[in-house]
Amino acid sequence: MKILVTGGAGFIGSALIRYIIGRTNVSVVNLDKLTYAGNLESLDDVCDNERYAFEHVDICDRAELDRVFLEHQPDAVMHLAAESHVDRSIDGPAAFIETNIIGTYTLLEAARLYWQEMNDSQKAAFRFHHISTDEVYGDLEGPEDLFTESTPYAPSSPYSASKASSDHLVRAWQRTYGLPVLITNCSNNYGPYHFPEKLIPLIILNALEGRPLPVYGKGDQIRDWLYVEDHARALYKVITEGQVGETYNIGGHNEKQNIEVVQILCSLLDELRPVAGNTYASHLTTYKDLITHVQDRPGHDLRYAIDASKIQRELGWTPEESFETGIRKTVEWYLANTGWIEHIKTGAYQGWLERNYSHRPANP
Ligand code: NAD
Repeated sequence: MKILVTGGAGFIGSALIRYIIGRTNVSVVNLDKLTYAGNLESLDDVCDNERYAFEHVDICDRAELDRVFLEHQPDAVMHLAAESHVDRSIDGPAAFIETNIIGTYTLLEAARLYWQEMNDSQKAAFRFHHISTDEVYGDLEGPEDLFTESTPYAPSSPYSASKASSDHLVRAWQRTYGLPVLITNCSNNYGPYHFPEKLIPLIILNALEGRPLPVYGKGDQIRDWLYVEDHARALYKVITEGQVGETYNIGGHNEKQNIEVVQILCSLLDELRPVAGNTYASHLTTYKDLITHVQDRPGHDLRYAIDASKIQRELGWTPEESFETGIRKTVEWYLANTGWIEHIKTGAYQGWLERNYSHRPANP
């Protein structure tokens, strides 16, 4: 089996590819535009594997997509490429409309053309798996409410609205053209190789440098946190065992207020890298002294929480990490992988392609 993964140089895509190459016999073609969020250094462990290939392609480029389908002949597509940061979508929504909506449409059309040319058995086996977010559901009112697969869509931000649009396109391509699709909607992920603009890595790295730890408003927003490797395992289960046409919600059963998450991170850092031994923080008594409440994001959803009972019941998936075990692993990873972080800070990670290929002679 060969899977075309879009957005494989991103946070979740790279975890998925490390999982597939490391734990299965499946081959992967990683198709990625390498925006600021794409980091091929996250795939250093697998990039020399003969079952891995990389294509530097934008999902909005139809001609290039057609070439990749023809050249690699994938049996399935797992579509993760997206603009993914809510704050950036508020500052500049255009890239979100372009990649998340137009890009998904372009990829669907390229996949449909390729699929239509297949023989009947290949057609029946083909899968298009669209990876989406629980943010399409908007936020929850009651403290006990959960998002199910039939919760109506009510996105709040340009990011979640663009993801909701792409979900609708994917469903329409099945209903109208018969393309065999699956959709997953997942809660907030955390773990190693997370780009430091997102809450958890931002807090860890700011704390280590003695900088303020910004918390939106009172920090009472609730998110359901899932360890990224649990998400990768769930995605692989869905592409290999999921029912065509179905949607699966994926969540971690780990609801936490943002302020709680920040306090847990500070406590772990106090234990693993005490302020007394950190020149940037030696004037503090605890990293918690750095917590700074800042003006809230406009339209900020208060609470997300997932009912993941369908994927548990039908596919036997449950998360392996609790928040306590996953967050400790995450902090330990950031403390041990300063090179990966340094390359992001200096921008050196974006030179990976040139560094890797410029000294290699072309094949005769
Ligand atoms: P990310 O921002 O870390 O990575 C996105 C990847 O897509 C990057 O490698 C980037 O270079 C690539 N990309 C962007 N535009 C592209 C384009 N036009 N063509 C080709 N590649 C392009 O995102 P992530 O956190 O890994 O999220 C992956 C997917 O999972 C997204 O679709 C996101 O909506 C969804 N999701 C994320 C979370 C989360 O907590 N991070 C939760 C649920 C769902």
